[in-house]
Amino acid sequence: MRVFYNCRIEPMTGQKSDYTALAVDDGKIVVLFRTKPSMGGEYKDMRGAYIFPGFIDTHTHSISGGIYSLGVSLEGCRNLWELSERLSAGKLMGNKLFCWHLDETELLEQRFPTAEELDRIYPETAVLIRRVDGHSCVINSYAAEQITAIQPLPADFNGTFRGRLNDVVVNWFHSSLDEESILKAYDRAAAHALKYGHTTIHTMVGDGYNSLEHYSLLEANLDRFPVEYILYAQCFNLEAALEAGAKRLGGCILADGSFGSHTAALFEPYADQPENYGRLYHDDAHWQNIISKAHAAGLQFAVHCIGDRAISQILKFYGEVQEQDPQDLRHILIHNELTSDEMIGKMSRHNIVAAMQPMFDRLWAGEGGLYQRVLGKERTLRTNRLRTLRDSGVIIGGGSDWYVTEMDALAGIDAATRMHNPLESLTAYEAVELYTSKAAYLSHDENRLGQLKAGYQADFVVLAENPLESNNIKDIRIKAVYKRGERFNL
Ligand SMILES: [Zn+2]
Ligand SMILES: [Zn+2]
Repeated sequence: MRVFYNCRIEPMTGQKSDYTALAVDDGKIVVLFRTKPSMGGEYKDMRGAYIFPGFIDTHTHSISGGIYSLGVSLEGCRNLWELSERLSAGKLMGNKLFCWHLDETELLEQRFPTAEELDRIYPETAVLIRRVDGHSCVINSYAAEQITAIQPLPADFNGTFRGRLNDVVVNWFHSSLDEESILKAYDRAAAHALKYGHTTIHTMVGDGYNSLEHYSLLEANLDRFPVEYILYAQCFNLEAALEAGAKRLGGCILADGSFGSHTAALFEPYADQPENYGRLYHDDAHWQNIISKAHAAGLQFAVHCIGDRAISQILKFYGEVQEQDPQDLRHILIHNELTSDEMIGKMSRHNIVAAMQPMFDRLWAGEGGLYQRVLGKERTLRTNRLRTLRDSGVIIGGGSDWYVTEMDALAGIDAATRMHNPLESLTAYEAVELYTSKAAYLSHDENRLGQLKAGYQADFVVLAENPLESNNIKDIRIKAVYKRGERFNL
């Protein structure tokens, strides 16, 4: 038995807490105390720190983030000269260079680099640069030659790919990694998650089409990681998912693209491209087929949908299966960015949940930002509607979509309390719920994770300040993280 005392515990159970100590045995919380207990065991003085349930990120691409963080970040890059400097200094993985976080609209030249420009730096190494949102990428000629052997690329190839070809190219880069590199990427992601106070992260495994990729390898190695991975079989291959023993199917399988790439599907055209409505990546028959099969097999289903037209397409079939055969599966809308009141009502009626990223609002919903540019001001008010969703009874889990934004729960909590549309802001308590108790609900783990209660897993984060009383939540220092009662170094 271990007793942690002299702390201020926030159990996130919805009730006011004056607990100052907790006892842990065999990885679980045994009991909480209001004063320092006197019982046998090892005692640990927490020196007045704040203890919250370990954070849960409900949406990450850990393999990508893990690989890319071993490569080159292009965040804050100002021009193509600086980009080439960073690339030249990059560390290779095998004979590949992985680069991420490019925002071409922030470059002086206002464009992506060309394949030719990359060839000058790397004539015989495969180079991949992903746009910040992951929906476009740039590669060099060396990579293109090898990919062409599997899938012909267009003749007018200049290096940049979007839509389906973006996925083909990225999947080629990822699928050629060996097992050791894959596990190393997950080690890296887990270490990164801990650093920001997480004890559990949801992660997408699969190519988004037909392959589960390294799903079984990861599942067989889950015990080696200091954080708990909740796995998504991210593909349309139901048979393979069932065979692998998956509990859920999907992830960032795409109903549409992104706002930044003008590929998110909208009911009204883009504000800056009046002919463009974005596009639905699959027709109704495709979704009806796969969603009804997954539902009948008892699998939770998850889909990436950004624009209102895509969300409404998926909701139609979620609603249908729930009406015909109501089950507690909690099908997920990932991102769920642009919604109407009617859609939110439908989500609530059918117990559809959402995995959302409050940082998207912080980064893109501001005056003159991406949302206003592509959606206009009025529609921007209908993005990331945390308050309306919550008040309508829709359960939302918070997340980062890491590698897209930093896997930083406190930054997400901070963003959720100060949304650009103040009507959609949450209280600090509600915002913490997104990354604890509500997040646990998304994976059917609400009786095990996300709260500090007797019988629950002893997963907690030790904070220097109380986020419920702070006006700078994102900068609160994380002092330690405990997973199943064990302390991990950050
Ligand atoms: Zn994603
Ligand atoms: Zn996505």
